[in-house]
Amino acid sequence: MRKNIVVAIDGPAGVGKSSVSFQVAKKLDIMLIDTGAMYRSVALRAFNSEISNNTPEILELAKNLNFSFKIENNKNIVFVNGEDVSALIRTENVSKLATDVAKNGDLRKILVEKQQKLAENSSVVMEGRDIGTVVFPNADVKIFLSATPEVKAQRRYKELKEKDPSVSFESILEAMVLRDKQDSERAESPLRKADDAVEIDTSDKTIDEVISNVLSVIETKIS
Ligand code: C5P
Repeated sequence: MRKNIVVAIDGPAGVGKSSVSFQVAKKLDIMLIDTGAMYRSVALRAFNSEISNNTPEILELAKNLNFSFKIENNKNIVFVNGEDVSALIRTENVSKLATDVAKNGDLRKILVEKQQKLAENSSVVMEGRDIGTVVFPNADVKIFLSATPEVKAQRRYKELKEKDPSVSFESILEAMVLRDKQDSERAESPLRKADDAVEIDTSDKTIDEVISNVLSVIETKIS
């Protein structure tokens, strides 16, 4: 690759963003920065320390977190101050807490700066909600993934049902619609497609089809 490139992949929950971003980063052999994991980590640490959102303490907490990512054993491992938090941050409770802390504009500024720094010296795939609009408005490639709410909830349902057979489709759909609504309607960096992003509707596509679509967009944009 000629120079350091930034591939921004944005979209709501359940569009297959993580799986697609992972395979694309692997294929290009570059770092994958999962910015949702950063909001999740702050939310979890704040919760464990009984620190409320919108306090100076949560900003201090975020400032003192050092994030790193490493693809290992077919997974993107998230380290926070050296601790592997990958599994701890993937619960429904942490999803809700993360969506809440993500409304805090001052906290977002701290994390955005960390995200920009992580991409300073290497090519990256960065996935999130505001990468193409706020974090890297000049990203080399911007992708926006979408899908209908039913398809997104169905995917999450299949995933969660394996871990917890008592989970209901309706409750997942409801939680997902609420989270997307909060992400799209918040005042600070709401979820939206950048004007120059390429939108891929993943509703009727397999993950492999989406990956191959994304790779061909990248090839066109950076050749
Ligand atoms: O992508 P993931 O579901 O892990 O993100 C968790 C939450 O973090 C999202 O619902 C959203 O509120 C927030 N987030 C954000 N901006 C990002 C990434 C995630 O606001 N760039």
